[in-house]
Amino acid sequence: MNSVASEVLPPSADTDVPLGSAAEDMVPVADTGAGRGPRWLDDWLDANLTRVMSWRRTLHAYPELMREEFRTTETVVGILRSLGLEPRVLPIGTGVICDVGSGPRCVALRADIDALAVTENTGLSFSSRVPGVSHACGHDVHTAILLGAAAALASAPELPGRVRLLFQPAEEEPGGAHDVIAAGGLDGVERIFGLHCDPKIEVGRIGTKVGPVTSACDLLELRVAASGAGGRDELSSDVVHALGVVATGLPAMLARRVDARAGTVLAWGLMDAPETPCGTLREGVLRGTLRTGDPLVNAQLTDLVEEIVGWLLRPTGVRFELEHVRAVPVVDNDLDSTVVLQTAVAAALGPQAVVPTTQSCGGEDFGWYLEHVPGSYARLGTWSGEGPQGDLHQATLHVDERALPIGVRTMVHTALTALTASGGPEAEPPACSAAVQRVV
Ligand SMILES: [Zn+2]
Repeated sequence: MNSVASEVLPPSADTDVPLGSAAEDMVPVADTGAGRGPRWLDDWLDANLTRVMSWRRTLHAYPELMREEFRTTETVVGILRSLGLEPRVLPIGTGVICDVGSGPRCVALRADIDALAVTENTGLSFSSRVPGVSHACGHDVHTAILLGAAAALASAPELPGRVRLLFQPAEEEPGGAHDVIAAGGLDGVERIFGLHCDPKIEVGRIGTKVGPVTSACDLLELRVAASGAGGRDELSSDVVHALGVVATGLPAMLARRVDARAGTVLAWGLMDAPETPCGTLREGVLRGTLRTGDPLVNAQLTDLVEEIVGWLLRPTGVRFELEHVRAVPVVDNDLDSTVVLQTAVAAALGPQAVVPTTQSCGGEDFGWYLEHVPGSYARLGTWSGEGPQGDLHQATLHVDERALPIGVRTMVHTALTALTASGGPEAEPPACSAAVQRVV
């Protein structure tokens, strides 16, 4: 934890480096990976860590909701251009794709850039200046880390290939990954890697896992309409009863039809049946989220839910429409890519930095990338080790800024390790230490 106060400057697009003058007054946090190299990375972080901190604090102070990340995009573009790179803004106007290096081989690093509709309550000097919006999921940290990795990689004497930087918009209400993919963000990419803040993991450690690490999330909306005569209840179907049958029956049936080990959870968020002038309820709606940790189960759920809802509602006599949207798939980490990441973290920070993590029921649209290319998504420890851990999506989320150089080193080493692994994704994974293998 550090207690350095800093002046936060508003982003400006008309300078080579839009942010950073505040960095001159900032005391850098400890760089726990210092001395592990490569030399150019040590040198870059030694000279520029305060700049990464300043970027993060300014991004934090000016959060933007999904698909409104125009100022953030402008900031990212300005910094990348100042490095001599050629960033490309996505056609939707927010989000950036940019390559560093050259050559036929290419790996991608992804950061999400959007914020949440949460009023910040951290008391930080660089708290959100935007009413009702804050970086309560740590995407400011992800963005600053990827900018730091970009700048460090741009300072390298040479790179073994291309590193594609993906600054993705709209992760919180998912869809931004589709925009990146549609803009060619994965073209030529062998593997993709992402980091996400985790306040449950102590700073200095990176949580990794082979296989599913977040869950698929589907959105369900059931609309029912009464058949029969309005105002003549004895001749009409009962929409509230029908909604109740599904509200209780669908979770009960799913629990018996789906493998319990898949961690499938249906949570209703809304049940409504507005009264009509004649006092008869004619229409109703039921909305919920359906999550599962198993990609195979996820693929079966659309047909299964339709079958069960039809079976439950047929005796009620209501007419109904069921909308089932696949919002995000499981983030299913590839074995070889995870070994690449673990090997890189062990080299960057020491073998003790690689720790296992568990699968969450949370959704993450990084899973869409993994339906196209192999990759791995890891958790960046952000808990200081003292006091309450807090959680993501909370007004009080606090990130230990020592995670910034750790994140930069992790991203840089992961890209270099992936680019130097023999032969691309079809080849054998790189050798890894016994300490690393134990957590696979
Ligand atoms: Zn997030």
